[in-house]
Amino acid sequence: MDRATLRHYLTFYRDLGVKSVFVGGETEESASPVETEEHGVEPTNPLEPPQAFSRVDLVDSSDDNLERIRQDMGDCKRCRLGAGRNKIVFGSGHVEARLVFVGEGPGADEDEQGLPFVGRAGQLLTQMIDGTAGKEGLAIRRPDVYICNVVKCRPPENRTPEPDEMEICGQFLFRQLMVLRPRAICTLGATATKALLDTREGITKLRGRWQKWRDIPVMPTYHPSYLLRPYNQNAKREAWEDLKKVLHYVYDEPARPLSDF
Ligand code: SF4
Repeated sequence: MDRATLRHYLTFYRDLGVKSVFVGGETEESASPVETEEHGVEPTNPLEPPQAFSRVDLVDSSDDNLERIRQDMGDCKRCRLGAGRNKIVFGSGHVEARLVFVGEGPGADEDEQGLPFVGRAGQLLTQMIDGTAGKEGLAIRRPDVYICNVVKCRPPENRTPEPDEMEICGQFLFRQLMVLRPRAICTLGATATKALLDTREGITKLRGRWQKWRDIPVMPTYHPSYLLRPYNQNAKREAWEDLKKVLHYVYDEPARPLSDF
């Protein structure tokens, strides 16, 4: 890769707020950090062209935090979704949440209020969290968890986000998750599950089975908007089962190993 192209990539990631990246197929432990020339550090070699955005991993930066991520996002127009939104929906919840829910993207209500999961699907999610935790004897309510989406701006006509939009905005999601470092993540629906797990398997196959994003357990389940459809009663029961597993894994005291669930 020539230096101009390299500079272009590094500037792009710096604008996302990424201070260091690993490039190529090396492991995180063995790779050397690469910083922009503006930071006065020459790129280390060998430098392979980034063949896909997903090959460039964020470093867990110990001085990162949610406020800084939001500041780095600014009045973001880094992908085409920025053009049609009203409000960026960054995420909300407890900043020390042990459980994070990740959905696909904001809908109309969320776009208007700037908050995730506040429409009908959001109300169902709240009922699911509060109701399941209550029945299972766990003193957990929605404000105790953190909720965000893969893309932070509403896609037009609520369409599924495009892969490049998820790649770009996903960098902010990854930073949120690295800062929060929850005990588990629950992905809501196929899009969020694919964004984190980079899989081709459908949600009906993946749901209810523990996966991992980096070293964090991930439980994929259905998106609440899917559960709102009247003919999906089975899916509703399955989603409740998935949620029960996650809540017990995260909040049972004393903590039990993942293999128990
Ligand atoms: S969806 Fe994400 S990357 Fe795209 S404009 Fe909105 S905040 Fe920026």
